[in-house]
Amino acid sequence: MNEFELIARYFQRPAKRALLGVGDDCALLAPRPGMALAVSVDMLVEGRHFFADVDPEALGHKALAVNLSDLAAMGAQPAWCTLALALPRADADWLAAFARGFYALAEASGIELVGGDTTRGPLTISIQVAGEVPLGQPLLRSGAQPGDEVWVSGELGAAAAAVMVRQGQQLVLDASAMAHCAERLDRPTPRLELGQRLRGLATAALDLSDGLVGDLAHICERSSCGAVLDWSRIPRSPMLAGLPEPLQQQLALAGGDDYELCFTAPAARSARIRELAQALGLPLSCVGRIEVGSGVRVEDGRAQAVTLAQHGYDHFAA
Ligand SMILES: [Mg+2]
Repeated sequence: MNEFELIARYFQRPAKRALLGVGDDCALLAPRPGMALAVSVDMLVEGRHFFADVDPEALGHKALAVNLSDLAAMGAQPAWCTLALALPRADADWLAAFARGFYALAEASGIELVGGDTTRGPLTISIQVAGEVPLGQPLLRSGAQPGDEVWVSGELGAAAAAVMVRQGQQLVLDASAMAHCAERLDRPTPRLELGQRLRGLATAALDLSDGLVGDLAHICERSSCGAVLDWSRIPRSPMLAGLPEPLQQQLALAGGDDYELCFTAPAARSARIRELAQALGLPLSCVGRIEVGSGVRVEDGRAQAVTLAQHGYDHFAA
């Protein structure tokens, strides 16, 4: 199977929203009038972002999901993507499973693959996504104001627990808890509908890839403010309940890979946010507030400071 056969067999489907899709030197794309394109690229490298023995179908899902999560964070609607793959060999079973996972999520989220590249090399997956967001309405990191409430979707910490177990650390989790944590790590759900419904409601937003405390610090930095989180209101995964409290704090506040949304909104909008949670069938938790100052503090339910060993993942940390 050469490169062109590989693309034709696994990654070529008829163009839908694109003016021209896979097969020419470039794809041709036209956003609808009044729309800006939100564009993001991400790279997943074997040994760094996933383990060598990961299920290729889950990998196809996750590689796209983490990029869609960035579109969700901007309030954008998925439109187009490109895929660059470095593969150690053209393994037909592996490619079929990867494409199955990729396309199942692509079709469910309305994103169209319009081009890409394949080459031989250490397994690396790079996906670029583009989504549409009405001009003037994207959710930015820079809009938070002192007094705003801080909200988080879903639950936190389960994916980070699965990473620890796969790295060989002993956590007391029963089989069903471990299965839940593995599912959260391998098959994250990008919060696309939530992101789009937060336009006009949230003042700032981002997706949680590296851990709540570290990621919220980006909103604080861009918005020139600080934040205080209340540990007693953090939606820690119920699967962590049997673990020691400091470890639960580490996983839910500083563990990565949750791909939930964190956003800020004036307190006067909290009733609308609770209605939105009902409408989406997705828990939305108010976990703290934005304050004058800088940085992110965490308090327990009794206003005592919570300290964490590590605040978030940094690829270039020594
Ligand atoms: Mg992001």
